Amino acid sequence: AARGVADRVARYDPRMELGGALAPELMAELGAAMAAGQVVVHYQPQVDVCSGRVVGAEALVRWQHPVHGLLGPNAFIPAAERTGQIRPLTRLVLDHALAECARWQADRPLSVSVNLSVRNLLDPAIVDDVRDALERHRLDPSLVELEITETSAMVDQARSATALRALAALGVTLSIDDYGTGYGSLAYLQELPVQRLKIDRSFVSDLRRSHASAAIVRSVVDLSQRLGLSVVAEGVEDDETLVLLRDMRCDLAQGFGLGRPVPADRLCDVVRRIDAH
Ligand code: C2E
Ligand code: CA
Ligand code: CA
Ligand code: CA
Repeated sequence: AARGVADRVARYDPRMELGGALAPELMAELGAAMAAGQVVVHYQPQVDVCSGRVVGAEALVRWQHPVHGLLGPNAFIPAAERTGQIRPLTRLVLDHALAECARWQADRPLSVSVNLSVRNLLDPAIVDDVRDALERHRLDPSLVELEITETSAMVDQARSATALRALAALGVTLSIDDYGTGYGSLAYLQELPVQRLKIDRSFVSDLRRSHASAAIVRSVVDLSQRLGLSVVAEGVEDDETLVLLRDMRCDLAQGFGLGRPVPADRLCDVVRRIDAH
């Protein structure tokens, strides 16, 4: 049953992206859904490639819809951005994720990563929202990572750079998500206060079969090391890929082969299983 939930999310996404008719009705419900507790956060473990231990978890939002079932973020994040609902949504995710992270510290310390969307970066209020969440949950900022995509940093470089500097000043870690899929120059890596790159899973899932993907992953790992950044491989689906990443000296790994995203109350078991493996 546990696997079933994750599989359904993964399978539901493409249909929802195509289903334009459903979206406007859905979006009218989102505010009420958040208030009713239907918007929940799942967590996917991030593993230290060298030690094999879990060091953090990425917060991934879902909508437990009473009629449509468990909806993945691709079903409602783009529309939430268009309809101005992304700020309350991000606040909800920050609140859940930082509350969980504060709980984890007592038992098995882990960091938490939260995804920001392009709209969040263009709204200076994001800085207050992150600061408020840190204070509300009395969380050490170094335990919190914020993930932004390469493209979102490029949309309005001046504005997003200002927001990123203010976020970095709070003491949180900033990562570039889906690294390698954008068209940005490498110059911004020097200009922005970024500490981590997440290699897009399209390269990682192909690592074993494709020389080109292996070359790309290897060079992103090297680039990260030379720039003093840490590097995460996303989309690790099997042990063989993990071994290759270890040889390349990639720092962290994330993927279905290590652990799927699960509800907060199941993360503990998943972490225990990975640590023991
Ligand atoms: P992402 O940030 O790149 O997150 C990773 C996505 O890849 C997740 O999908 C995760 O379930 C999936 N994934 C992880 N490991 C594997 C693997 O080994 N193989 C495959 N095929 N997939 C894997 P999910 O949860 O559907 O999220 C999709 C995207 O939605 C995320 O991509 C992120 O960009 C966005 N997102 C998720 N939660 C939030 C949120 O709270 N706020 C915002 N703004 N965006 C979010
Ligand atoms: Ca992410
Ligand atoms: Ca990711
Ligand atoms: Ca990604």
